Amino acid sequence: MAEKGVAAAFLGSRKPFELREFPIPDPGPGAAVVKMSLANVCGSDMHYWRGEMDMVKMGRPMPAALGHEGTGEIYRLGAGVTTDSMGDPLEEGDRVLFSYLYPDLQCPTCLKGYTFACPTRQHDRLGGLEEWPHFRGTFAQYYYLHPNHTMYKVPDHLTDDMVAGLNCALVQVISGLRRAGLSFNETVAIQGAGGLGVYAAAVAKAHGASKVIAIDGVDERIDLVRSFGADEIVDMREFETPEQRVDRVRELTDGLGADVTLELVGHPGVVTEGLQMTAPGGRYLEIGNINVGWHTEFDPSWIVFRSISIIGVAHYTSQDLRHALDFLKDNVSRLPFDRVLSHHFPLADINEAFAQQDSGRITRGALVPHA
Ligand SMILES: [Zn+2]
Ligand SMILES: [Zn+2]
Repeated sequence: MAEKGVAAAFLGSRKPFELREFPIPDPGPGAAVVKMSLANVCGSDMHYWRGEMDMVKMGRPMPAALGHEGTGEIYRLGAGVTTDSMGDPLEEGDRVLFSYLYPDLQCPTCLKGYTFACPTRQHDRLGGLEEWPHFRGTFAQYYYLHPNHTMYKVPDHLTDDMVAGLNCALVQVISGLRRAGLSFNETVAIQGAGGLGVYAAAVAKAHGASKVIAIDGVDERIDLVRSFGADEIVDMREFETPEQRVDRVRELTDGLGADVTLELVGHPGVVTEGLQMTAPGGRYLEIGNINVGWHTEFDPSWIVFRSISIIGVAHYTSQDLRHALDFLKDNVSRLPFDRVLSHHFPLADINEAFAQQDSGRITRGALVPHA
């Protein structure tokens, strides 16, 4: 009888997850099975769970697999998979960082070099949990990597806590700031100091930003973003209105506004404010607003007369993910990567983890699949 593993079944908005058992798939040629060590609850998982992105309306087969951020070790390698994406030899038990994206590398979008926007990059996530290979979400004991995956071997001295946030939160801001062309001595404003915001502060400083300003209103998050390099905080408890926050960011940037502003809140209501705190000629990175159908109004003349570019960032390239691992390696002794995750829950307590993260009692939780 085939060995089995447990996966969390997502049954719809605000419905309790159920744990279900499925046979661990045999990896086909070019594929691999990862044994999950840690899976983070990302903001986008919360959007699904709250029904802000409704999987049923999106036509996704239910129950669905959820979770994409996390890390694990090689459980089985399919025929022909002998190395990671850098050519380093791989064997069972090696710890790996992987991407959940599969750009086909041959469609018109990929051929233009925009592999991060390949229309079929998420083909695997369209399948339901009941459908083979079942393990297509990280809230599970195993995760199936199809052929043409991207994965990198993780050195032993980097802990799972440090690595788990790389394949979504860290790599998203690396991809975004690369595409924004952030350069030496520019200023950066960060709307929202959650996981992405914290990493954004560090990556912006590594690009040579002269001043990084984080906007948030929760002590724990403010402390963490400071320790990741934020130079200034605009505390929303002190600067309560959008006008006050815009004025404060301009005051901190010689009256200009930030050269690059990152939207990491995930609510359309912050977009006008974000554009207004961006300098003439600046770039507005739109990353957080992933809720389809949530609208906002803004005055387009603002971006015309100030020549502001808006750059949407849904995903990243394989090279960006490599940079994320290198960034961690190079800065592990300097930055508190091990503090980004605030709480751990056994996979069996997934409902508790979601309830706590939803209520804001915890900042960023992670599930331990084999606890
Ligand atoms: Zn994510
Ligand atoms: Zn493509």
